[in-house]
Amino acid sequence: MEKKEVILTGDRPTGKLHIGHYVGSLRGRVELQNSMDYENMFVFIADAQALTDNFNNPDKVRQNILEVALDYLSVGLDPKRVTIFIQSLIPELTELTFYYMNLVSVARLKRNPTVKSEIEMRGFSDESQEEANFGTGIPAGFFTYPISQAADITAFKATIVPVGEDQKPMLEQTNEIVRSFNRIYGPVLIEPNILLPKNSVCRRLPGTDGKAKMSKSLGNCIYLSESNEDTHKKVMSMYTDPLHININDPGHIEGNTVFTYLDAFCKQEHFSLYLPEYENLEALKEHYKKGGLGDVKIKKFLEKILLEELEPIRNRRKEFEKDIPYVCQVLKEGTEKARAVAAQTLSEVRHAMKIDYFEDEDFIAEQIKKFSQQ
Ligand code: ATP
Ligand code: MG
Repeated sequence: MEKKEVILTGDRPTGKLHIGHYVGSLRGRVELQNSMDYENMFVFIADAQALTDNFNNPDKVRQNILEVALDYLSVGLDPKRVTIFIQSLIPELTELTFYYMNLVSVARLKRNPTVKSEIEMRGFSDESQEEANFGTGIPAGFFTYPISQAADITAFKATIVPVGEDQKPMLEQTNEIVRSFNRIYGPVLIEPNILLPKNSVCRRLPGTDGKAKMSKSLGNCIYLSESNEDTHKKVMSMYTDPLHININDPGHIEGNTVFTYLDAFCKQEHFSLYLPEYENLEALKEHYKKGGLGDVKIKKFLEKILLEELEPIRNRRKEFEKDIPYVCQVLKEGTEKARAVAAQTLSEVRHAMKIDYFEDEDFIAEQIKKFSQQ
């Protein structure tokens, strides 16, 4: 029988989810949910991981659990088809992390480019230094979070992990752990495959300030759940092309965030709907490059496209917000279901590592024999 896929991804409850999450990962998850015949799909709220750099701000994590859960439901993840759970409520994951720590060197962890840039970001920006309190050094928990991610992925024997590009080093690290584990202890764990968005601009959507990545920690986000009015203000003050001062100046597309967002969101039908004087995105870009096309016009076009996608999400969220006990129930049931799966993998891991002493009858028999012969 053909083995079906197991899909898994998570998000840190460090804030509400934004359109970077949406194009980088959430939209892809909903597409998989609706199109694929998979064995299981897990989506989880990575609160234990969020605490590794927010350990001094437990309220931030606590307050964002439901925000993220509401974002999940409002983008269309369906609890009947997806198991949604909370990471810290599955202690099996912590136990796996501890065993995997033996399989990774400190030098290897230091080479992780995402961890490196996150440490730099937190070390040098005043605001996040206060927030993350890395002034006294990098917490061991933060430094080792890629190992805990390996535990999250392997506990569910995930085969597909749909994420943004920043997660590539984590998947590589996970695969190394899987290979070491299976070589030393036996073939228990499964190597996952990363699933990046097909459209390369969606793999790392820049912030509205034009900085490399839209990120909760950088405050350069358009949130899924913000008001249309807030989105309007943000789009109108978005970073474009600093050399495009007068409307007739030739404009640049590369690094122009409005065009990057258009690349991520714009579909052919948007032209006949909102901007019929242009045939397609190429024609719009050509005009901008030549000069004579103002920023306000492209921003208004982008705003319409964004709202078309975000308004239904925002409306669904308002409905779910009226029934918080239901959202909590979804999380509780999902967590129970997920825990049973993780417990099964942990028991296989413990068996392979030969630490399942009292589940293994041979152990007792062997020990009796050993001591009777002494
Ligand atoms: P934090 O600043 O707390 O790390 P974040 O905004 O980076 O938050 P995460 O919870 O770390 O968000 O990321 C969740 C998922 O969303 C990951 O799969 C990540 O790759 C994806 N993602 C986050 N930001 C972007 C982005 N700007 N573009 C594409 N994908 C993104
Ligand atoms: Mg992140």
